[in-house]
Amino acid sequence: MEYENCYRQVERPKYDCLLFDLDDTLYPYSSGLATACSNNIKDYMVEKLGIDRSVIFEMSNLLYKNYGTTMAGLRAIGYDFDYDEYHSYVHGRLPYENLKPDPVLRSLLLSLPIRKVIFTNADKVHAVKALNILGLEDCFEGIICFETLNPTHKNIVSDDEDDIQFTGSRSFSSTTNDNTEIFDIIAHFSQPNASISSLPKTPIVCKPSTHAIEKALEIGKINPQRTLFFEDSVRNIQSGKLVGLDTVLVGTSQRTKGADHALESIHNLRDALPELWVAVNKSSSEVGYSGKVAVEMPVTA
Ligand SMILES: [Mg+2]
Repeated sequence: MEYENCYRQVERPKYDCLLFDLDDTLYPYSSGLATACSNNIKDYMVEKLGIDRSVIFEMSNLLYKNYGTTMAGLRAIGYDFDYDEYHSYVHGRLPYENLKPDPVLRSLLLSLPIRKVIFTNADKVHAVKALNILGLEDCFEGIICFETLNPTHKNIVSDDEDDIQFTGSRSFSSTTNDNTEIFDIIAHFSQPNASISSLPKTPIVCKPSTHAIEKALEIGKINPQRTLFFEDSVRNIQSGKLVGLDTVLVGTSQRTKGADHALESIHNLRDALPELWVAVNKSSSEVGYSGKVAVEMPVTA
């Protein structure tokens, strides 16, 4: 591996990168942002996509469960919309006032001279805003977010061989489902023996797909064998484990399958993983790590 010669020291730290989810990991679920976000997504589906409110609950659950995010599911089943507009609708009116600066977490993070990177399914605007409010904006080398993994914003019906076929024969709306066939995911799962493999694919790359995690690691030049991954989502933890990451489930003290560690709160980091500091103390002078963190990293798309 290309990483083999990074630190040819007598005793190098076990990890050279800490990869953090943001929402409900660096601040608690009890802040209410997740609930508000979920409600905003449902409102978007009704108001912007014209979906009947009576099916929203079931549909959004099925999409979230099968595609990682409701947004990814909506795109898969045929809805077309502007990604920036979607993000600004669902995140733009979150109760950010519920988030407070977290100097305790800030000191914890800054005391760890190990590379730290954010990996979130959310968009960059939300990630930067939340980190700023928490007072953690300079604790991370970079942010891997929605735009990093989905750099093509424009909604193109087809980007390959189908282009010619469609030219002049049909018209497509970028905002409505009037002339696009929508896959009925509720009807699909109401059938006996409904298969997951026959679901339409989404163009959106996001956790918990292992492809998304591998892509993030590649973009961030992160070696999974030497990285500790912090997440509140059990399924993201399980995918992380599949790609070789060591994992910390945050938000519960109960370890589940795929979780190497479990923290009730990210504030328990030092108590639960003191070896992170021991390893640093033993080797920081040897490896000559400056401990200085950079604000920007070219992984934000
Ligand atoms: Mg999360």
